[in-house]
Amino acid sequence: MSNTHPDEELVRQIELLSGQKVTDCYQCGACTSGCPVAEMMDVPPSKAMRLLQLNRAGELLASSGIWMCASCLVCGTRCPRGVDYARVAEACRAILLRARSSKLDPDMVSAEECEDIPQQAFIAAFRKFAG
Ligand code: SF4
Ligand code: SF4
Repeated sequence: MSNTHPDEELVRQIELLSGQKVTDCYQCGACTSGCPVAEMMDVPPSKAMRLLQLNRAGELLASSGIWMCASCLVCGTRCPRGVDYARVAEACRAILLRARSSKLDPDMVSAEECEDIPQQAFIAAFRKFAG
């Protein structure tokens, strides 16, 4: 029987799916300061990385921030340690989608909203459904 904490297993799974190593992050905050939607996130990129370093992956998976990420890749280009947080958020969403616990329900988006929605958001949504 394994003595590994369940959240530790989740962190390893997120690392595997994202190709990112959580210990590479040294908490400089450059990702969060450049993220265009960080202010709307309950858990912005740098805090998300810290949660993973502390084996608190469950808190990150329960956050709305991973769903608000627009996959714009700004965080990854700013990171001095080469961490691509967009991939981490995508891995978290993939885990939840595979468990069929998506927070993004297409039926909730009206035809009017579809017309107004920026193209980038559409692309981000497709990426979210790719899991
Ligand atoms: S990829 Fe996501 S987390 Fe990174 S800067 Fe863009 S919106 Fe923010
Ligand atoms: S920019 Fe990179 S090193 Fe800095 S907090 Fe974000 S993920 Fe960590």
